[in-house]
Amino acid sequence: MTDTRLSHDAPILAIDGLHKSFGPVTAVDHVSLDIRRNEFFALLGPSGCGKTTLLRMLAGFETPSGGRILLEGKDISALPPEKRPLNLMFQSYALFPHMTVARNLAYGLEMDRLPKAEIARRVEEIMAVTDLGQFAARKPDQLSGGQKQRVALARALVKRPKVLLLDEPLGALDKKLRERMQLELKRLQHEVGITFIIVTHDQEEALVMADRMAILKDGQLLQCGSPEEVYERPADRFVANFIGVMNFIDGVVASDGSFNAVGLNLAVSTEIHGIATLAVRPENIRVTTAGAGIEGRVVDMAYHGLDRVLHVRIAASETPLQVRVPANAAVPHTAGDTIYIAIDPDRIRLFKA
Ligand code: ATP
Repeated sequence: MTDTRLSHDAPILAIDGLHKSFGPVTAVDHVSLDIRRNEFFALLGPSGCGKTTLLRMLAGFETPSGGRILLEGKDISALPPEKRPLNLMFQSYALFPHMTVARNLAYGLEMDRLPKAEIARRVEEIMAVTDLGQFAARKPDQLSGGQKQRVALARALVKRPKVLLLDEPLGALDKKLRERMQLELKRLQHEVGITFIIVTHDQEEALVMADRMAILKDGQLLQCGSPEEVYERPADRFVANFIGVMNFIDGVVASDGSFNAVGLNLAVSTEIHGIATLAVRPENIRVTTAGAGIEGRVVDMAYHGLDRVLHVRIAASETPLQVRVPANAAVPHTAGDTIYIAIDPDRIRLFKA
């Protein structure tokens, strides 16, 4: 409505047709993305999709073959890394081994010739936020993996960048610590109010942490949206399969608006006609009674604590469907059982062949 509103909604970082080739290899293929102020943004995709190259171009360590990077509307594409108000936190942490935690944190500010009192104040402040106060006098090799990770993060934050870039920041941690740090990182991002752009190949990590995420494949942007949007309404078959577990059934959408496959007829609402693939998550298939569903046979069952996943073979699909049922479901199922399943037509996606 007003100018204030406009400027508040303006992206902090605009990636405009960014492109990078290494000889014949296209690493990043004309990607355009807007990153909002104070958001936790994840770049996600399989190995080799171009995530790291994209991040390195933002940081200034890689020169784009084409396109622009705008920070608060200013083109920073030609600026060297140290002139960009962005900070990259490396996967390897790159801490100085001979310096204490406090000195590791102060070092960058000393290089910037900040007044001593200001440096002390900022180091104190960031140690409090990252819960590092008790380790101030320790050297990196006297810290656990998670503590080192926090020091690296604190060191990147102490310079108060406008945007913090993180390349697989939790990659070196074991599963338990990784899950704890995911929440901690999110809390910290919220507290410092700095825009975070994180690279990860771990879809669960992106779902847990990100406000919004971009899915890349072969250098191309396939979808950008909130975790819910991407999980509930994947843009294509690749995204559907990459995020979470998805069942696929090949069939045909008839002119009466029904999806048909062997032994399966489902009223759907779609613009698609003809050959199509139906995609449905395991939690959107119910076990029902004979006559009310599609007949199938349980070929396998996996116990996951909170729930069980049944693998059910039906005539319409070569691959058994995964069906999620509560672990305490009244009727236990075992391999060989005949069961009947129903697909919720409101919770499916259809993709054109
Ligand atoms: P990973 O998750 O495995 O780190 P990624 O998604 O970060 O992968 P990138 O490292 O950005 O992928 O690489 C994208 C593509 O560009 C790959 O095919 C890679 O081999 C290629 N590539 C990256 N850097 C170079 C380089 N310096 N020279 C030649 N090819 C490169």
